[in-house]
Amino acid sequence: MVYDIVIIGGGPAGLSAAIYASRARLKTLLIEKNGCGGQITVTDLIENYPGFNDGINGFDFAVKLEAQARDFGAEIMYDEVTNVENGEVKKVITVNATYETQTIIVAAGTSVKKMNIPGEPDFIGKGVSFCATCDAPFYRSKDVLVVGGGDSAIQEALYLSKFAKNVIVIHRRNELRTAKILQEKIASHTNISIIYDSVPKEILGKDSIEKVTITNVKTNKDTDLKVDGVFVFIGLVPNTLFLSNLVLDKNGYVVTDENMNTSIAGIFACGDIRKKQLRQVVTAVSDGAQAAISAQGYIENQNATTN
Ligand code: NAP
Repeated sequence: MVYDIVIIGGGPAGLSAAIYASRARLKTLLIEKNGCGGQITVTDLIENYPGFNDGINGFDFAVKLEAQARDFGAEIMYDEVTNVENGEVKKVITVNATYETQTIIVAAGTSVKKMNIPGEPDFIGKGVSFCATCDAPFYRSKDVLVVGGGDSAIQEALYLSKFAKNVIVIHRRNELRTAKILQEKIASHTNISIIYDSVPKEILGKDSIEKVTITNVKTNKDTDLKVDGVFVFIGLVPNTLFLSNLVLDKNGYVVTDENMNTSIAGIFACGDIRKKQLRQVVTAVSDGAQAAISAQGYIENQNATTN
């Protein structure tokens, strides 16, 4: 069987594409590596998605999106895509199968960036975490370090402050990158402090984390901080390893036009994986809708040419 659209990735962008494509009665398959939802499943509260005045939990939101896509008829498969091949009929190759399709929508999102400092790999899962929503309860009444100054770091520091005794945010510059509203919120929490102009240099401990050596980037002075956990939110890297032929920007994001066309006709990209300024749920779902409509237009054109 040849699908009309195969969507790679089941985050908000991919699921929105699936909703629009299956609602247009296109034969739609969505392939997701882990569980649907992507990065939002580890977000405690999405408070800037229009229509949810009190915010919505990221996991609950993902469950709703997935159900909506299935209700309209999208097939959802759990598998890992290893390659895509262009041709008159395109191929999406996974660990377990090869799927043929007229169009492909790449919505594989991003993964968390690691610090790559000594001690980080040794303590992943044993004190180093990339998900406060998953691990915060383990740090009840303990001291934790949060690395980064963007939206993720500050939002997750706020969440951690409900559990930990002290949350120390460490940021490499002297001002936070995050939205002003989050800066206001963090300032009102007495158990959150911020160390500016500094980066972690090494994580030390035996069976668990005992301390982190940090360096002031202006003075080069090292200081030891006694903490029990380190939460790393220093940005994201696009999941483009399986894409060898698409044009990417210098940071590895897929270059598209405003209609989500990539450098290869019939292959579209949407959501966090593509080169763009604003990476939010609201922009991801918008991208997904556009990608599906562009794919539909491509299929109609192809069919008109062959008939
Ligand atoms: P981000 O916006 O790229 O911020 C990464 C932070 O980590 C920056 O403060 C950066 O410092 C710092 N950093 C980068 N590399 C570092 C290194 N090697 N060592 C130390 N610090 C380092 O990433 P993010 O916070 O994960 O957010 C990703 C995207 O998701 C953004 O577009 C964000 O707006 C969005 N997001 C939105 C929400 C929301 O709307 N509520 C929540 C979460 C994420 P500099 O500032 O110096 O570059």
